[in-house]
Amino acid sequence: MKVLVIGANGQVGTHLIKSLAERGHEPVGMIRNTDQVKAIEDAGGKTVLGDLEKDFSQALYGCEAVIFAAGSGPHTGADKTIMIDQEGAIKAIDEAKQQGIKRFVMLSTVGSDDPEKGPDNMKPYLYAKKRADEHLKATNLNYTILRPGSLSNDPGTGQIRAAESLEDKSGQIPREDVAAVLTEILENENTYHRTFEILNGDLSISDALGQL
Ligand code: NAP
Repeated sequence: MKVLVIGANGQVGTHLIKSLAERGHEPVGMIRNTDQVKAIEDAGGKTVLGDLEKDFSQALYGCEAVIFAAGSGPHTGADKTIMIDQEGAIKAIDEAKQQGIKRFVMLSTVGSDDPEKGPDNMKPYLYAKKRADEHLKATNLNYTILRPGSLSNDPGTGQIRAAESLEDKSGQIPREDVAAVLTEILENENTYHRTFEILNGDLSISDALGQL
């Protein structure tokens, strides 16, 4: 499947390009800078230039699915968070609709279901993610919203836990495992129109997804 990865040069995005390519997909990484081309190609993907703050509609041409794995990061102010994590995501969703691309996977976060419960400094981010997720849910796209807990750079274990709302949201999950889950759910119709949380656990990814 030809799939656009928005945020391809990110820490999850780079694992994701590799994982999608290994599974026989045709990942296309949307990047902002030509210096990033080699890393994406080395991971097995093609590239397209696009910036979420501008018109990036051409990046979606010919794709069958979109995975949104971008974010403004923890070091920007609320204005950029809203511009990228909320408005950038909403533009991507609307563009997928416009171009008839039915499959859309959103990398969201634990806590975006109830931003008021989050710490004050996280609220703009959690609200931005919640608004993007709600915009996606209101479409007729075959969406999946994946909400991992805290991410780590540990090597992937292939072992996770997953639930609509995890009872225990402590712990972390390696970015490599998040990428593996995003790849696994891409064509898994059991995850269409679903929102769920993931963290490190003791089930294989396919068993954890099968129990949803
Ligand atoms: P990351 O390494 O910061 O990657 C974010 C990517 O977004 C980068 O590739 C960046 O591009 C891209 N981006 C930023 N602004 C853009 C723009 N205007 N146009 C196009 N692309 C843009 O983040 P990560 O660690 O992979 O995490 C991915 C996402 O997971 C986060 O954004 C967050 O929403 C979610 N998440 C994070 C945590 C956590 O514990 N950190 C927990 C749950 C969920 P450049 O490479 O060009 O800068």
